[in-house]
Amino acid sequence: MQQRIEHIYINGEFAVPHGQEWFDLHNPSTEEIIGQVRLGDAQDAQRAIAAAKAAFPAWSRTSREERIAALQRMHRAVAAREEELMEAILTEYGAPSVRGRWMATYPAAVIAQAIDTLQSFAFEEHAGSARVILTPIGVAGLITPWNSNAGFICNKLATALAAGCTAVIKPSEMSAMQTQVIARALHEAGLPPGVFNIVNGRGEVVGEEIARHPDIAKISFTGSSAVGQHLVSAGAATMKRVTLELGGKSPTVVLDDADFAAIMPLALQAGFVNSGQACIAGTRILVPRLRLAEFEQVARQAVAQFKVGDPRDVETAIGPMVSARQWERVQHYIRIGIDEGAQVLAGGEGRPEGLQAGWFVKPTIFTNATNQMRIAREEIFGPVLTLIPYENDANAIAVANDTHYGLSALVLGSDPERCERVARQIDAGRVLVNTLANEPRAPFGGFKHSGLGREMGKWGMSAYLEPKTLLTAAGVSGH
Ligand code: NAD
Repeated sequence: MQQRIEHIYINGEFAVPHGQEWFDLHNPSTEEIIGQVRLGDAQDAQRAIAAAKAAFPAWSRTSREERIAALQRMHRAVAAREEELMEAILTEYGAPSVRGRWMATYPAAVIAQAIDTLQSFAFEEHAGSARVILTPIGVAGLITPWNSNAGFICNKLATALAAGCTAVIKPSEMSAMQTQVIARALHEAGLPPGVFNIVNGRGEVVGEEIARHPDIAKISFTGSSAVGQHLVSAGAATMKRVTLELGGKSPTVVLDDADFAAIMPLALQAGFVNSGQACIAGTRILVPRLRLAEFEQVARQAVAQFKVGDPRDVETAIGPMVSARQWERVQHYIRIGIDEGAQVLAGGEGRPEGLQAGWFVKPTIFTNATNQMRIAREEIFGPVLTLIPYENDANAIAVANDTHYGLSALVLGSDPERCERVARQIDAGRVLVNTLANEPRAPFGGFKHSGLGREMGKWGMSAYLEPKTLLTAAGVSGH
């Protein structure tokens, strides 16, 4: 049975949008249409912004305790819908079940992280004789992509609310089922009307209205670098504060003392994470030239273990691409790699054997590539990795940093001190050494074209606050 999602969420109620367009939702594992979502338009965005603006004065004056209580209700409501969210993720996005489970638990986990941050956050500090009061900035516009829609909604919203801001959310139009689960949970949390609003819609319609509206003080956006750049210029006229989490072409630096058999699972998981549709994916693997042949041999065997197919099968490591367009994009880049003269070590064009339907691609590894090739410079957003040989540590660091991006990096080697020396010289918002661990309390974001600002922890929260310096006449202060 097809699901019809008709409502958006404005001022504490599910509402029928003014927008008339219906947008098809697909199961990427079968290509079948599984539902439709009715999209909002600019007028719907305006209503949502007006509701958030009206709710701001009261919400911005709530105490820390009141906000913590509201976030705890959000946390409980979102956690209670984990199974429903998991079902939506598997059906609408096709994340392999292990990844899907992470994506279904992360939204509640990230709300808990915001509660943690709020509990110890200093809203008032001293600077010499002045007091510095961190003041909520106003209405935040929160725009999310399809590759982890529920997690991004909850992270951005919980942080905005913790800071005392109200919000208008423009989720990915391709993730409407996941958004619906989250919207129901947030409604149950019983927050004051208007504190958060959700408008499904196209980026160039609803997103654009948010980007230009004078009553939006701040935008937090996760998505492509092209749209991120556009939001900075569109927001300039109204001097919007902007936080951007964008793409990546993250390097995995394999040092020449690494035990290849031991590190290969980490190197490939870093590249194939979220079926390759991950901003942090380690898609450039830098390999010591003298050991390239050995690395290729271990990699070829290891990649054969990565099962592609039905996301509900627990053995599956790589699910389908989210859409036909994304499938075409990945195929296009595989052809570019071949035309550029890189060698295909594994995978290649077309669907994996035995899969007739679904937007599945073969996990692909190119080797003997140069860092100047397009497959080494441009974000593909699929399970396509590029092996690039290097000469020595200094050269590896130079190649790692020779990119427009700088979101994440992974260093793999046997000598921890040497790994750390290399890690410290890589220009990226996050550098992992011999691990794929995540630390949600640490800042997340990118250097260069990978973004602007940081999310998570006190760094994320500060982005929703304006410092206000308060100086009072001597003798009068202290009361
Ligand atoms: P996208 O930039 O096309 O869309 C992201 C969101 O922006 C969607 O909700 C879309 O509707 C909206 N949008 C599009 N045009 C807009 C406009 N003119 N004004 C306002 N909003 C607009 O990206 P996508 O295809 O949804 O996601 C894939 C991209 O996101 C990849 O490039 C990936 O690297 C990036 N990404 C980054 C991170 C991160 O944390 N750094 C995480 C996930 C995805």
